[in-house]
Amino acid sequence: MKRYQILLLISLSLSVVMHAQIKWPDGKKAAIVLTYDDGLETHRNIVIPQLDAQGIKGTFFLFGQTLTSQDIPEWKKISQSGHELGNHSLYHPCLGGNNDYPCSSLECYSVKSMLREIAVMNGFLYAIDGNTVRTYAYPCGQTVAGGEDYSVPMKQSGLIHFARGGGGDPVITDFCKLNFFKVPTLAAQTGEPSERLINFMDKIVKEKGLGIIVFHGVGGDYLDISAEVHQELVDYLAKRAAEIWVAPFGEVMEHVSKQRKQ
Ligand SMILES: [Zn+2]
Repeated sequence: MKRYQILLLISLSLSVVMHAQIKWPDGKKAAIVLTYDDGLETHRNIVIPQLDAQGIKGTFFLFGQTLTSQDIPEWKKISQSGHELGNHSLYHPCLGGNNDYPCSSLECYSVKSMLREIAVMNGFLYAIDGNTVRTYAYPCGQTVAGGEDYSVPMKQSGLIHFARGGGGDPVITDFCKLNFFKVPTLAAQTGEPSERLINFMDKIVKEKGLGIIVFHGVGGDYLDISAEVHQELVDYLAKRAAEIWVAPFGEVMEHVSKQRKQ
């Protein structure tokens, strides 16, 4: 057998092993992560009570500009009860954003200024929850600052351990190829019923994978689904608790990372 054929066989069998290696805790079949962006009021008033009633923990990606002295004690309590607070930057810059001062358009940024902003937000979050391990969600899911992809420099900076966003198939089954700094996600769409999101979770269980959903408003704010639809999703997860591991983004990614190293 030629050398390249042997190498191909080795890499193919390694990839099969990698696929098989992710074992979810307590013999569960799959993992689902619920994430909520922008630190909205409906997260505190509607989402948290619904999740807490079923003992489900989620991840809340906050951005500095919207944090008020009134919200901070609430977020502190939320983090103490086991939910994760993630970094969503200070000013939430997106492509084509506004150019007011400070400019919140990604075109005005450089990789360096983006990382500096992420570092400051890490400090804010540390002051709230005391955690030094931090996850990140790209504002608007966009990974380019000043024309340059900042996912690799962000990884190298050590500021962030895992980052959500940047595209890709949200049905995650190939853990060998999964980029920890561009973890794909499925976005809940404004006003949608529960069907598509439940079908997505069904597929994740069937394929024994990982699925991450991003929500904005719930029963208000913007890009919102109704409180009733969110409740249906929570009830679905509670009903299938024996099969589905639901945990914060950082905890699930840490689990995947450890398994990948084995
Ligand atoms: Zn956002």
